[in-house]
Amino acid sequence: MTNRNEQWKHEKDGLEILKELPVLAEKEFKEIDPGDVERLKWAGIYAQRPRDGHFLVRVKLPSGQLTAAQAKVLADLAAAYGKGEIQITIRQAVQIHNITLRDAVDILPRLKAAGLSSVEACGDVPRTILGNPLAGVDAEELLDTRPLVEEVFRFFLGNRDFSNLPRKFKISISANPHDAGFARINDLAFVPARREGEAGFVAYVGGGLSAEPHLAVRLPFFIRPAEVKAVAEAVATLFRDEGYREKRNHCRLKYLVADLGAERVAEKIEAQTGALLRGGKEVTAPWNYGRFYGTHAQKQPGLCYVGVHVKNDHIRAEDLRAFAELAERFGQGRLRTTNSQNLILLDIPEGETGALLHDAIFKAYPTAPGFFTGYASSCTGNAYCNFAPIETKNRLHELTAALDEAFPEVGQPLRINLTGCFHACAQPQVADIGLTGGRARVGEAVVPVYTVMIGGHLGEGSAFARPLEGRVVDDKLLGLLEALVQKYLALREAGEPFYATVARTGLELWQSVANQYTIA
Ligand code: SF4
Repeated sequence: MTNRNEQWKHEKDGLEILKELPVLAEKEFKEIDPGDVERLKWAGIYAQRPRDGHFLVRVKLPSGQLTAAQAKVLADLAAAYGKGEIQITIRQAVQIHNITLRDAVDILPRLKAAGLSSVEACGDVPRTILGNPLAGVDAEELLDTRPLVEEVFRFFLGNRDFSNLPRKFKISISANPHDAGFARINDLAFVPARREGEAGFVAYVGGGLSAEPHLAVRLPFFIRPAEVKAVAEAVATLFRDEGYREKRNHCRLKYLVADLGAERVAEKIEAQTGALLRGGKEVTAPWNYGRFYGTHAQKQPGLCYVGVHVKNDHIRAEDLRAFAELAERFGQGRLRTTNSQNLILLDIPEGETGALLHDAIFKAYPTAPGFFTGYASSCTGNAYCNFAPIETKNRLHELTAALDEAFPEVGQPLRINLTGCFHACAQPQVADIGLTGGRARVGEAVVPVYTVMIGGHLGEGSAFARPLEGRVVDDKLLGLLEALVQKYLALREAGEPFYATVARTGLELWQSVANQYTIA
């Protein structure tokens, strides 16, 4: 057997842990077999930092769909077990931290009763399905993806044919033209396309970030909605049967796809699905960064959705309950989470948006946040993550709040993503400015330091950010960011996003700015 994780999966299917949870909950953390701690991920339960018997539970919300009744259950659970806080993740899931396994024994049935599930929210399995948070109300969507998301989600949920994959498997299904599903950084993504007037999808495979980022490559097919599940099953089967299982950091689908190439992958898919149509023209529009702030018309006449910003992607339990009550009072009891870790209220009658926005809660959760604070992303950092060398969320908010203050003239989003380590959970490679944290000795002290990359974006012409040389020490970081923003303001053409200015002007110029702030 090839690595420790493979041995654990071979010994016992991860889903078995669901039955064993009540027994494990009676043990001291140090008595629990490390294989079982790993298998708890299959129940959506993840050991957090410090490893002292506290966990997070991750709840899947496919395409970000959440009813007010479900939101209230999550708020109750967070208040009862999780220090009153809920985190929205970059895959539209939610997490409650600081729970014990005894808490989990209570929590899981209550999730199930509410029509929610944490099963396979973590682990080497198909993860929650990312999607258009506006599915069903989106005036621009090519088709309503909710039934497809539901079909694929139900097919994989707890399916023992796919509960032992080489690594996690991330699917995105969106028919929104603004790349709301961040297609090219998923293992498998369906994006909107037309072929001879017919609405359907084209698919991308083999995307992923971490230390060796890959942009997913396009398959040659035009995929009809009725074929989406079969294609997802075929790709998952290929990954399960031919994916690498030796070195953990070389097991993601992206490595298999890179070795096989798109045509060979396509042949292997068709060997399972039968012949698929070729061609299809993608339906695209500028990337919206996964942000849906403000009040906008839905496809249903007279109704609006309202996108709000959740600072540091953590929402207080009482605030989630308050949003659920607003969604019931003004709308039809529907909310959505976004992969930018924010919230949307649906179905607000046009004439009542003013009354809704009058609620005091929007002071803490703005609908028009700053162009730095509202578009920044940070990973969990050392608050809960065992890998993290630095604190991320408060530091990034401090930095972006200072930039909002200093550069009111910026007038459009400038996305800064801060990630705690090379695992890249905050997706620095697709940010305008991506920061990766670490620690280094500087003089007498060991301090936080950052590497910097610039110019990343998704949507049409997706490209990863390119690294600048050198590292910047924490107390010089704001100075460097200010200098980069100043340079952008001086060079940009009308309406040009930061990443486009970088692409047009070349890296050397930006390196010369950075050199004044970086150490070797
Ligand atoms: Fe943890 Fe690293 Fe991911 Fe941040 S990027 S959450 S530090 S693993």
